Amino acid sequence: MNTQETQRLVNKAEKLCEQRGARLTPARREVFEILAEQEGAIGAYDLLDKLKAAVPNAKPPTIYRALDFLQEQGFVHKITSSNSYVLCSHFDHQHPVQMLICERCGSVQEIQSDGVYDALKKQAEGQGFLVASQTIEAHGLCKDCR
Ligand SMILES: [Zn+2]
Ligand SMILES: [Zn+2]
Repeated sequence: MNTQETQRLVNKAEKLCEQRGARLTPARREVFEILAEQEGAIGAYDLLDKLKAAVPNAKPPTIYRALDFLQEQGFVHKITSSNSYVLCSHFDHQHPVQMLICERCGSVQEIQSDGVYDALKKQAEGQGFLVASQTIEAHGLCKDCR
């Protein structure tokens, strides 16, 4: 992603935080920018290495606190199966998450299917289960790697 696009995303995130009364601190902002510049998903320790370029005394808790915040705001998704993080491609609205994860190049593509979401919710309700959130991770090969 180019710098201009990153800047646009940062501005958008800043505006959303302002509206919500949340604070995009310099560390959180820096982590957001690093994620915006990534092509695919990135692990917490790789993030920390990159963050140290801007914040030399950054420690693992700095990263995890920033990531918690960014996830709460819906800016970032955690990919549980690979323990990595990716910037949400449409973070201005909350949505059920379906992610297509390429095993070869690590790219992550988000799709939004209400059909999938509704089907899972309905089946869960049939079991007396109330779904609070759902993330579906599909692994395979992207169109460039096939
Ligand atoms: Zn998303
Ligand atoms: Zn790929």
